[in-house]
Amino acid sequence: MASVQDITPVEKTGSQTCVHEGCVIPCCPHRIGRTYVWCWGKNPYHKIAPLTFFTGPDWPCMLLTYTLITLPTYFFLVDVCTALGLWAIILGSVSAAAVLVSFTLAACSDPGIIPPRAADLEAPIAPPGGPRMSLCTHCNVLRPPGAIHCHDCKVCVLELDHHCPWTGKCIGKRNLKFFYAFLCTLCTHLGVVVLLTVIWLAVRPSVPPQT
Ligand SMILES: [Zn+2]
Ligand SMILES: [Zn+2]
Repeated sequence: MASVQDITPVEKTGSQTCVHEGCVIPCCPHRIGRTYVWCWGKNPYHKIAPLTFFTGPDWPCMLLTYTLITLPTYFFLVDVCTALGLWAIILGSVSAAAVLVSFTLAACSDPGIIPPRAADLEAPIAPPGGPRMSLCTHCNVLRPPGAIHCHDCKVCVLELDHHCPWTGKCIGKRNLKFFYAFLCTLCTHLGVVVLLTVIWLAVRPSVPPQT
């Protein structure tokens, strides 16, 4: 039976020397592929933020997304909601907080990265009775069916949906639900902004024309 050792990887990302097998507190950040892992306990993989933080290669775009959410929301709360009253401030704050929480969960949680293990190099490609595993020749890990290599993040991700620059990294099996929650809360927040702005324009005292 062919083993992984018989296959020469075409590209080494260096992730095998960077990733920790099991992180302990306090743990230094480490890199897997082009993703930085900021962990707070043992085994940061398969956890969600804030228990762990995965920062993808497009992190400047992720910061831009945070700015595009928070900056207009700040002026909306200060100008529109404050003029309408406490109920508008609470409604605008809750909808904005829901957007930020869901975005953070989508952008900072583990998308389903398959961490390399030393055992992978010795395991057979198709263990008897188990799922048919295949070797990723880019990051040198054994991956189950459905896992796809992301060439931006340079890691293999379980049930990869797409690489999202706005979240800075991949959307996969473990953060897809948070990504959908982000889209839903964002649409709701935009609806709240439009509705309250229309009400504000309708009820605000009109400025008499200057003579
Ligand atoms: Zn891979
Ligand atoms: Zn990716």
